[in-house]
Amino acid sequence: MKRAIFPGSFDPFTIGHHDIVMRGLEIFDEIIIGIGHNYNKREVFPIADRLAAIQRAYNKESRVRVEVYDGLTVDFAAEHQAQFILRGVRSTLDFEYERNIAEANKQLSGIETVLLYTRPEYAHISSTLVRDLHSHGKDIAAYIPDTK
Ligand code: ADP
Repeated sequence: MKRAIFPGSFDPFTIGHHDIVMRGLEIFDEIIIGIGHNYNKREVFPIADRLAAIQRAYNKESRVRVEVYDGLTVDFAAEHQAQFILRGVRSTLDFEYERNIAEANKQLSGIETVLLYTRPEYAHISSTLVRDLHSHGKDIAAYIPDTK
């Protein structure tokens, strides 16, 4: 049983994140999306709303679960007996950032990080962009997984 956690702030969860999860399901038997409380980042969408929206997006996918966590990602992974951390990479900037976290997590707990490159058409999509559009009253539906 290969279980991965997909940790992030997901403020909000975008079609870029969704793409990583769907492709992750080709590799892993189960994915647990972990919405982490990141105290260094200002939160815009309430955590309860983020949880509900992501759960709705995967309500037909029994291999995906969604949870909120605080504390260390490696502890969250251990709690769920996950052997892998799944993350997405859009750019060289992401790459450097992810490399440092992956190395720290490996040293802390031995857990392996698996990185997937973003699809080019989603490379420009970030939660920051979607938050900005939202704060200026723009419709963000195109950037959010369709849950209808
Ligand atoms: P964090 O606050 O931990 O960086 P995010 O919610 O911003 O969390 O992102 C979670 C993960 O999803 C990160 O690995 C990030 O690189 C990845 N990600 C974000 N946007 C995209 C995208 N458009 N395509 C692919 N991966 C993405």
